[in-house]
Amino acid sequence: MIETDILIIGAGPTGLFTVFEAGLLKLKCHIIDGLPQPGGQLSELYPKKPIFDIPGFPSILAGDLVSNLMEQIKQFQPGFTLNEVADTIDKLEDGTFIVTTNKGTKHHANSVAIAGGLGSFEPRKPQLEKIEFYEQNDRGVEYFVKDPEKFRNKKVVISGGGDSALDWSIFLSNVASSVTLVHRRNEFRGALDSVEKVQELKESGKIKLITPGEIVGFNGKDHIEAVIIETNGETITTETDYFIPLFGLTPKLGPIANWGLEIEKNAIKVDNSLDYQTNIPGIYAIGDVNTYPGKLKLILCGFHEATLMVQSVYQRMNPGKKYVLKYTTVSGVDGFDGTRKEAEKQVVKAID
Ligand SMILES: Cc1cc2nc3c(=O)[nH]c(=O)nc-3n(C[C@H](O)[C@H](O)[C@H](O)COP(=O)(O)OP(=O)(O)OC[C@H]3O[C@@H](n4cnc5c(N)ncnc54)[C@H](O)[C@@H]3O)c2cc1C
Repeated sequence: MIETDILIIGAGPTGLFTVFEAGLLKLKCHIIDGLPQPGGQLSELYPKKPIFDIPGFPSILAGDLVSNLMEQIKQFQPGFTLNEVADTIDKLEDGTFIVTTNKGTKHHANSVAIAGGLGSFEPRKPQLEKIEFYEQNDRGVEYFVKDPEKFRNKKVVISGGGDSALDWSIFLSNVASSVTLVHRRNEFRGALDSVEKVQELKESGKIKLITPGEIVGFNGKDHIEAVIIETNGETITTETDYFIPLFGLTPKLGPIANWGLEIEKNAIKVDNSLDYQTNIPGIYAIGDVNTYPGKLKLILCGFHEATLMVQSVYQRMNPGKKYVLKYTTVSGVDGFDGTRKEAEKQVVKAID
């Protein structure tokens, strides 16, 4: 059982910044995310895009903002359960919670902060006959590259035209025995340097490119042996061990929708006049996942909501104790790892 003060569901920017604000109040956090890496939409959807409305940063790449947040919270030693989806919640008699993931990991916390953004991302699946069969029990269809070693010396067909398809084709061209990239258009929507790299690898024979092309079926009894591709009015068969469709992710509120929370238009209703608490005391919802009059789905708003929310958790954990707000420039920051950050002391000198 993982024990923590605040269990945060979602490692997007809101969830990550919660760790910092909670740390200032000496509250410990643990984060669950269904994705293999932190950063939420910023890492998954637009890591190389610049953001222009983060206070103090005229421009910052989404991926760099995530790295900075990770650096900022390191001192508060958050725990992470990645690659696992928060599945069920139980409220105990003492008002604390146990959250269990789809892989059975149990977390016990005083309070739960749902920072689930647009929900748990689910891969967009191509509509192909028997695809559900090949998705299961390692039969050859994979929607994520969780461990590239799985594809070492294997034949791989990747389908898609965005950054993920390009990046994984490039990466796996050094791991797999063959990589075929199939896309229904000739144009790719990805970073220019990735498109150029794929072009180079195609010319050197390390990637086979089939455009315009579309996977229309499979061959293979217990495991995929080949994919059937329609290209330029022809139907061809390409032998493969794995088919990796990378068509992006669709957000779904997922299991949280069954937790008894008040939901409005796929978002969790909260009390924004006070602390972003849901209809269940001790469960908060912050960032893109919540709704209230005037709500804006912006990173900046998630940071603000996280800051107010942790004050409420502090009161829950320390009833009656008055918290006096201190500026970090004055109080410094004491990390749980023993580090201390503080502003240089001013020299006090008497004036004659
Ligand atoms: C292309 C694009 C550009 C954008 N540009 C800007 C911009 O310029 N400025 C700006 O302010 N905003 C921008 N946004 C919006 C911004 O990305 C969101 O407001 C922000 O990501 C919300 O952060 P979050 O932490 O609330 O949620 P998210 O970033 O969505 O993170 C939520 C996380 O929760 C996880 N999760 C959900 N449910 C579960 C569960 N049950 N178990 C485990 N994990 C779960 C998800 O996997 C995800 O990682 C942009 C969005 C997009 C798509």
